[in-house]
Amino acid sequence: MALPVAEWRGRAARLWAALDPALRERLAAASLHDAVRLGCDLLRTEEEAALAQLCHRAATDKKPEAASWYREQGNREFKRGRYQAALRLYSKVCLEDIARAESHGYPDRLLPKVLLRKAECLLCLGRLQDAQDILRVLESKIALDGVMTTHLTRLKKLSQLKVKLGEKERCPEPAQEACGGIQGKPEIWEENSRISGASSSLGLGFDAERGRHLVASQDIVPGQSLVKEEAFVSVLCPGESLPLQDGDTAWDTGATNADLYCHRCLRQLLASVPCQGCSYAKYCSQDCADMAWQQYHRTECSLGALLLTLGVFCHVALRTVLLAGFAEVSRLVAWSHCGDKSLQNPEASCKPLSEAADAGAGSRGVPGCDSNGRYQSSYQALFHLLPHAEQHSPEHKFLCTLTVVAICKQLQAAGLEAAVLSQESPQQQPKPKTCENTSDGLSPELKTVAEAMLRHVLQLQCNAQAITVMQELGPGDGAVVDKKPVRLATAFFPVLSLLNHSCCPNTSVSFSGIAATVRASQPISSGQEVFHCYGPHWCRMRVAERQQLLRQYFFECRCPACLEELESGVKSVVSIRNSFCCPKCQAQMQGEEDILCCSNEACATSTSRDHLSGRLQDLQHQIKKALGLLRVGKADQAIKMLLKCQMDAGTFLSPEHLLMGEMEDHLAQVYATLGKWQEAARHLKKSIEIVEMHHGPLSVETGHELFKLAQILFNGFAVSEALSTIQRAEGILSVHFGPQNAQIQELQEMKACLSELPRNILQRT
Ligand SMILES: [Zn+2]
Ligand SMILES: [Zn+2]
Ligand SMILES: [Zn+2]
Ligand SMILES: [Zn+2]
Repeated sequence: MALPVAEWRGRAARLWAALDPALRERLAAASLHDAVRLGCDLLRTEEEAALAQLCHRAATDKKPEAASWYREQGNREFKRGRYQAALRLYSKVCLEDIARAESHGYPDRLLPKVLLRKAECLLCLGRLQDAQDILRVLESKIALDGVMTTHLTRLKKLSQLKVKLGEKERCPEPAQEACGGIQGKPEIWEENSRISGASSSLGLGFDAERGRHLVASQDIVPGQSLVKEEAFVSVLCPGESLPLQDGDTAWDTGATNADLYCHRCLRQLLASVPCQGCSYAKYCSQDCADMAWQQYHRTECSLGALLLTLGVFCHVALRTVLLAGFAEVSRLVAWSHCGDKSLQNPEASCKPLSEAADAGAGSRGVPGCDSNGRYQSSYQALFHLLPHAEQHSPEHKFLCTLTVVAICKQLQAAGLEAAVLSQESPQQQPKPKTCENTSDGLSPELKTVAEAMLRHVLQLQCNAQAITVMQELGPGDGAVVDKKPVRLATAFFPVLSLLNHSCCPNTSVSFSGIAATVRASQPISSGQEVFHCYGPHWCRMRVAERQQLLRQYFFECRCPACLEELESGVKSVVSIRNSFCCPKCQAQMQGEEDILCCSNEACATSTSRDHLSGRLQDLQHQIKKALGLLRVGKADQAIKMLLKCQMDAGTFLSPEHLLMGEMEDHLAQVYATLGKWQEAARHLKKSIEIVEMHHGPLSVETGHELFKLAQILFNGFAVSEALSTIQRAEGILSVHFGPQNAQIQELQEMKACLSELPRNILQRT
């Protein structure tokens, strides 16, 4: 959740409504500096007490489950330097998870998958012998069941693990990365001399209309990397419910992203290193735990419940300030106070703490650039992202002010002020500060921190970048892996933020841990602006919805898709394709009002929109039920139900409706779990047709569907068709995600596996 919990928002709203109108006006017009000062007076002990109450609900200590008990014990051993014991206990953590899965009535056909997971865990823990043993059990089980009842995907995984095991035995732990993984073609990459993390084929532009923006300085080809940037700061979003709810395994029951990913580097956790001080923060390694502690967690650790209650934006704001270091924060806050900001450059104009000479050229004068005119992924650049302080509603600004003041007061009360102020900045040594409490409760230093945090919270509304990961969905029996992007963290990327929005962007963004890569998704010729889609894409929403969503960014989109739909009155493709059709003659239904009429004049049927929307809802409900049946292993019933849904949908939805495609996709999944590969492929191809129509044949969405089709054909031994589908999927996905992407690697492994298939297996089909 980006914003504070509803109760706290409600409290702030009531407080705001009860304020003297003159004071409301003063607050509305106040600078960030004055807002914090006023906020300190307005946050009463009443509110603080209420907040403390709310925090109890978000308690960061969880029930002592077996897994977490083992984890804590492991930690204790680790601290004593008893690594062997610790290792064993850590391994218990994930073995415990598997045991939980088994005790939840794991169907026997999934056993090989669990065994594979076990082997993987052991491998990661360096328990090579144990991993070997499990692989041997697995192999004998497969030999017993016969090749044909075992999915090729599993055989492939098994052989991968054997290779990894071999590598681990040959080379010691630290060199693991160097020898693991298949190396794709190296990408051509030349970094821009003026913008860190950007390609040399881009230039930085700045004007009143577009603000800062990136322009192609030479012709760019699809798939070319344009920006590679690590988040300046990122915070894992804890509350996001897991898509694994759709899976049939109890493996992840009760787990959230906060249990599955490293809180610092966002890598997936197999066995985690928890924080010593709280039960919330978990890391992939002792290194990450130590780094996080040193950089920010020693301040955040005891505030876990408060930060969860007040939302991810405030948490990002606090961590930003901690990462930047107090010296840098106070330098930039002081700069923001001085009147003449015509140069927009804290190094060049009024320099309270900097002696830097005004030696810049070229992009000098572009906000956020350093004294050499270079734009870096730094705190200075981040500080210059627009907070749009005048455009936020006064009430929202008040909520944010009250919230950051509450956090700072808590920092002071918990005796953490010294930790905040001594947080070293990368460039500057900390200056020892004397912490003295003033009458309204916050020291001048913490007021500076609060002011910077307020700025960051306001900036986040326009500049927060979601970090997403591809998470496995669907019946995870390993035959066909369906992956969807899921929001994992909220972050600031100062360079990525240079990209303006378009509803029909010419780039695509992907993530690996906290690193983002922007790639051209189509040819971009020299001189054209490079755009990124903030969310509202023309294929997914009609113009009115998009403009509504874009209002939070304080601009009106003038992209070609918006202009065309707005000015020429062209109906959006979304509304045409996702329309209702006439129950009598199947022609498209028309009308913007409550009553829809058949577009076929001879037919003249009319129906209320509410009636059709109601049917659509019922249908979606039925589809959910069918998926529920699939989850509990009743595939035959699921098929019957989905086929009935399809019949029903055909009487009132346009044949191109996205839901029509989704049903085909679900049917393909069900047939795949039954090993009926031909049926599965037939349905998936229909789904692909519809996805292509909506998103385009070269879109990420089509790429994902082709990836699934490749797996189905692969499992069904449809060798030549599988090979051509792999080729197509590879072509599309590598443009969006680059050659190192896990899905691309998997496609290549499938290709290799098919070409090595022994003749006798092929002849058996
Ligand atoms: Zn990590
Ligand atoms: Zn902690
Ligand atoms: Zn637009
Ligand atoms: Zn009709």
